[in-house]
Amino acid sequence: MRLPSSTRTPPPESRISVSPFAVQLNFHGDLEFFVQSRTSGRRIERGLSEKTSVKDVIEACGVPHPEVDLILINDQAVDFDYLITDKVVIEIYPVKSGCTKFKQKCLQLASTSRFVLDGHLGKLARDLRLLGFDVAYDPEAEDRELLLVMERENRALLTRDRRLLMHRVVKTGYFPRSQKAEQQTIEVIRRFDLLGSITPFTRCLRCNAPLRKIPKAEVMETLEPLTKIYYEKFRRCTGCGQVYWAGSHFSKLQKRLEKIRADSAG
Ligand SMILES: [Zn+2]
Repeated sequence: MRLPSSTRTPPPESRISVSPFAVQLNFHGDLEFFVQSRTSGRRIERGLSEKTSVKDVIEACGVPHPEVDLILINDQAVDFDYLITDKVVIEIYPVKSGCTKFKQKCLQLASTSRFVLDGHLGKLARDLRLLGFDVAYDPEAEDRELLLVMERENRALLTRDRRLLMHRVVKTGYFPRSQKAEQQTIEVIRRFDLLGSITPFTRCLRCNAPLRKIPKAEVMETLEPLTKIYYEKFRRCTGCGQVYWAGSHFSKLQKRLEKIRADSAG
């Protein structure tokens, strides 16, 4: 796999060719999911002919760097810029791999509740907002806009575009393994330790702004006759003004939330 320049570590001034050598990469835990190898599974050998950053070697195997939490070379933890110049064995661990001995050397943020999602993850964006999380989502956004929002607003990037996740400006990100929104939501809750931070129905599903409780009288005139009779509690979006109440879809949503909560804890 040839990586685009946006993902590669800028070459150091002293970059020089060296005699060709081979490195061995051992991918642990669920990083196997990304490894593009038909025969060798989680162990990969690669030939190099110049000094190369460990980030570039790992990503050439198909594993985006935000998925990597710990890199060990000769039992020493190294960061993504570490230059490989000779034959070595590289051990690569995912987030939450239980490698407590090197906890101080972890490369990834353990927890965050602010996200930016790529345009293909609309259902995940809705689910996360439903749970009260701060989600920037624009189905029309191009890659560079996603990266801009990510950097400017200090958000974690969620995407199933591996190349995008490999971009060198990405500090925190995640590639949802599942293609189903519900399972993706559970994955994100687990990855970013969000179970204790869920506050359902506090954020607008349309625009992401917080909701504010409002007295029924404030919206009385705009309500349908049956809504006027059956519902007492209302919230209004502080951004777009959308009014929410516990309508007929509410119990269905609540059931989904309970299932997500239970599955995430499991
Ligand atoms: Zn809104």
